[in-house]
Amino acid sequence: MKCNYCNTEMLEGYLPTPGIEWVPKYKEKKLKYTGPKTNGFRIGRMYLMSLKKQSAWYCPNCDLIIINCR
Ligand SMILES: [Zn+2]
Repeated sequence: MKCNYCNTEMLEGYLPTPGIEWVPKYKEKKLKYTGPKTNGFRIGRMYLMSLKKQSAWYCPNCDLIIINCR
């Protein structure tokens, strides 16, 4: 995958994480997210003892990570 900003080939890897949440700006974190993902969503299940390998690409030039949200 090429970086959208600088066109450098990104390094494929993963984020070891129990879960990641994305919340829209000016909204609050929720215990449960419903409706379309644009309302906010959680990746993974927040099990503290089992880390998910969340696919991600890193651009060493921009120091930027792109996460696959599936
Ligand atoms: Zn880049």
